[in-house]
Amino acid sequence: MVLSLVFLGPPGAGKGTIAQRVCEKKNIPQISTGDILRDAAKKDDEFGRSVKEIMEKGQYVDDETMAKIVKNRLGEPDTANGFILDGYPRTVKQAELLESILEELGKKLSAILLIQASEETVVSRLSGRRQCKNCNRIYHVKNIPPKEEGKCDECGGEVFQRDDDKPDAIKERLRIYSEKTAPLVGFYKEKGLIKEIDANGEIEENMQNVEAVLSKLEQ
Ligand code: AMP
Repeated sequence: MVLSLVFLGPPGAGKGTIAQRVCEKKNIPQISTGDILRDAAKKDDEFGRSVKEIMEKGQYVDDETMAKIVKNRLGEPDTANGFILDGYPRTVKQAELLESILEELGKKLSAILLIQASEETVVSRLSGRRQCKNCNRIYHVKNIPPKEEGKCDECGGEVFQRDDDKPDAIKERLRIYSEKTAPLVGFYKEKGLIKEIDANGEIEENMQNVEAVLSKLEQ
């Protein structure tokens, strides 16, 4: 069965961590627009520099640029059996553009998983989050520490703290989420696509909540 999902929810709710695990299990690609942009921001060219500046402030890259990135990525052959879009769409305009992209590519969304966690949980997850510079695996200093400090369990890469996981950027990202991304919940509710996931617990518990929803979708 083709499983084509969008993960929606505030930064720090656990979208990336859960997406990485579901993708490994189901053997489908995780398409994290944040990871794609972080890779672009490593390059010292005009696009890389402008993306870096936008991300450091916690703001959004423009909708047209994001549509080009996502269309290219969804056009890759590894999306044939499904995918998880993690962090895209993030505005109603992006959701509209995604509809035309999917139509052009002959694809259809199975569901939108709304990954929910309280503001307190989200802030504590973001401030303790670490990520592998090489393979993008997500860790947390307390909840999911790497076996060896500063070193990725999967690939041995350097585990670092994102610039936008620092207090000022966290505040701005949560503000922009409420203003620009939260309205997407209504957009997808109207289409009957939203499945709510309680992600306030430990990772194993959250994964069980996700599995329960996915097994119904797969019936
Ligand atoms: P994330 O890793 O999903 O938290 O994304 C990190 C940053 O990348 C965001 O704060 C934005 O600056 C940028 N970004 C990621 N996805 C999008 C998107 N769909 N639209 C606009 N900007 C994005």
